[in-house]
Amino acid sequence: MKKLMLAVLASSALFGSVAVQAADIELKLAHTWPKGFPLFGTSVDEYAELVKELSDGRIEVKVDSRNKHKSAFGIFDFVKSGQYDIGQSASYYYGGKDPDTLFFTTMPFGMTSAEQTAWFYEGGGLDLANEVYGKHGIEVMPAGNTGMQMGGWFRKEINSVDDLKGLKMRIPGFGGKVMAGVGAIPTNIPAGELFQALERGTIDALEWVGPSLDLRMGFHKVAPFYYSGWHEPSTELMYFFNQEKMQSLPEWAQSILRNAAKLTAHNMTTETFHASAENWSQISQQFPDVQIKQFPASVIAALRESNEKLITAESERSEIAARIVASQKAYLEKARAWTVIGDKLYLDSVSE
Ligand code: CA
Repeated sequence: MKKLMLAVLASSALFGSVAVQAADIELKLAHTWPKGFPLFGTSVDEYAELVKELSDGRIEVKVDSRNKHKSAFGIFDFVKSGQYDIGQSASYYYGGKDPDTLFFTTMPFGMTSAEQTAWFYEGGGLDLANEVYGKHGIEVMPAGNTGMQMGGWFRKEINSVDDLKGLKMRIPGFGGKVMAGVGAIPTNIPAGELFQALERGTIDALEWVGPSLDLRMGFHKVAPFYYSGWHEPSTELMYFFNQEKMQSLPEWAQSILRNAAKLTAHNMTTETFHASAENWSQISQQFPDVQIKQFPASVIAALRESNEKLITAESERSEIAARIVASQKAYLEKARAWTVIGDKLYLDSVSE
């Protein structure tokens, strides 16, 4: 009897260890940011932790920052080729790989964070993103949102469209193109040199993120005018998964990887909102000379017109681009009507 028990125990122990080994999954993840970069980078470390916890240690995600892989904007290629199983970056960095990836981060005059998140999950946005990325063997999911990005730090006030002519501003991507359309000169300068460029007047203005990440850059010390946002109203980061690798995994593992992404995205959005509130309170108290400004209506109208021209050109570029632009436009219209009678009227009514 004793022998039999031992045999049963031995076989169940053996079965147990085989089962654990068979379920052991090691995945490699690359992200765009320096190691430990606040919010954007730390949320990826949280993702790896969460996956480990949810899988009871059966899935291990090894995170490489750009300090390791040396290619901030190589994430798309890393995941496409399978060199990495997962990536985290921003979709709009990959317009050179596929111009249809442009639309899945944020668009000038586009949706707010709440509106865009609803578009991704409920309004067909994520399906469109996966249609674009699917052509490259990549599955994507939203990875967290900065919320409203500020229009940037300016050394001088902007009172008319003429004040933008010849203005040298660090504003990358599509927003930069819109600015160029009204006569500004968008420049790109490495992050480490931005403060000095603004301080010395090599550039007249720059945009970065919002209080969440602007505070540590110190721009408020050299440019007193902080303009409200228009060009990146809801910058969403993106998780990339190598499709072949993802589909080779057991269902439970796929579910953990996707749901941990969803939860991490939610956490990053919340953490960034919190950091903006905290940091703005610090800036406004310690630097009372910083002034919040809004562009005059004439400037906004000119930027809007420049944006419309560019969007029209984009939507004529490919069949799917036309569908994405139409989908965003229709969703924005519907969602905005609600935002206006909900949040906006509330804020208008209760603001002192
Ligand atoms: Ca920005």
